[in-house]
Amino acid sequence: MNTDRYHQSEELYQRALDVIVGGVNSPARSFKAVGGGAPVFIARAQGAYLWDADGNRYIDYLAAYGPVILGHAHPEMTEAITKAASRGTLYGAPTELEVQLAERVREAIPSMERVRFVNSGTEAVMTAVRLARAATGRSRIMKFEGCYHGHSDIALVKAGSGPSTLGIADSAGVPTHVAADVVSLPFNNVGALKDALDRWGSEVAAILVEPVVGNMGIVEPKPGFLDEVTRLMHEAGGLVIYDEVITAFRFTYGGAQNILGQSPDITCLGKIVGGGLALGAYGGRRELMDLIAPKGAAYQAGTLAGNPLSVSAGLKALDILRRPGTYEGLEAKAAYLAEGVLRNAREFGHEVQLNRYGSGFTLFFTGTPVRDYTTAQTADTGRFARLFRGLLDRGVHLAPSRFEAWFLTIAHSRQDLDETLEATRQVLSDMRG
Ligand SMILES: *Cc1c(COP(=O)(O)O)cnc(C)c1O
Repeated sequence: MNTDRYHQSEELYQRALDVIVGGVNSPARSFKAVGGGAPVFIARAQGAYLWDADGNRYIDYLAAYGPVILGHAHPEMTEAITKAASRGTLYGAPTELEVQLAERVREAIPSMERVRFVNSGTEAVMTAVRLARAATGRSRIMKFEGCYHGHSDIALVKAGSGPSTLGIADSAGVPTHVAADVVSLPFNNVGALKDALDRWGSEVAAILVEPVVGNMGIVEPKPGFLDEVTRLMHEAGGLVIYDEVITAFRFTYGGAQNILGQSPDITCLGKIVGGGLALGAYGGRRELMDLIAPKGAAYQAGTLAGNPLSVSAGLKALDILRRPGTYEGLEAKAAYLAEGVLRNAREFGHEVQLNRYGSGFTLFFTGTPVRDYTTAQTADTGRFARLFRGLLDRGVHLAPSRFEAWFLTIAHSRQDLDETLEATRQVLSDMRG
């Protein structure tokens, strides 16, 4: 690390290490996966740019792991949030704003007939699982390796030793009996799902799926895969939960389910729906959602759930996103950038795969097409770390992991993309051999 350039970040990191565990409030922010050392501490952001504590400017493609689709400090967002703050940030009583946002969500994602707002994606998924268990009277959960569903116990379970074995804890502190309730399967593999359902079909409450995966890098479902997931689950008497925490409002005004022609039983939202503030949601068929308290017997609550500040931000974000041309513009920028990055990589002889879906893409350093977690893991860690560090030094900010995406925002200009491509070209050239 160039210690002059990152002097303030180094100092802040030392202070942080003394008082915040690991120096960060979410492990994804540490630079552990890219060789360690001080992460860059951010001081402010505007539009497509971040400025760190040393005053270095970055073109930002992390977008805070997805939510910042409007760019940073969008003036209309700042105004909406400021106005909302001046009316009080928390009442502990219902508001019209929540009704408006729920109506807006249902209009955009019709399978969410009834909606409940929570504070994060983690909470949304955790509660969706509880709801599925309440609805089916079963406890077993299926999910796919490499998908991320937040940090509740049930989500922190990985596959056991064989394709058709029970899950094992992926974190210390997850009880073995919780892990044993989860079956983790390879994505895009109908055969493995069939095998698992042959064994556990009568016990399964639900399957969790990211309809387009964002958390092993971008991975699309094969044609027909999601149809089979739904058909087989329903045949087994279980429910289908779409975790659209990354995907909703990222690729279209609505969920990935709108594009893919799917209608899951329950959908989970987070990230973009809160416009950069803390908000999550889950929703689904009316008779299922009626099982949630106070109507039903499945409990879920929250002091900050649906607070007027987050809801106002969400409403304004959706207002801006539904303007004509938003998603076409985002996709065109992503296509331009992704094609340029791929061209640069090939020019300098790097073996890569580029998976792009709409305005998000991942560059994997591997010769193997990436369709699931096993193939994603063939991506070279060292080469990604060199790309990441090289771009950081040249003012381009990516997620510090080979399993994340570059996300475009409406704030990126053509000049930003061209500057990014020039930086990428230099780094990929330096990395040759
Ligand atoms: C980010 C993410 C979550 C967790 O959301 P948090 O708001 O970080 O708790 C869950 N599922 C998916 C698909 C995500 O990308």
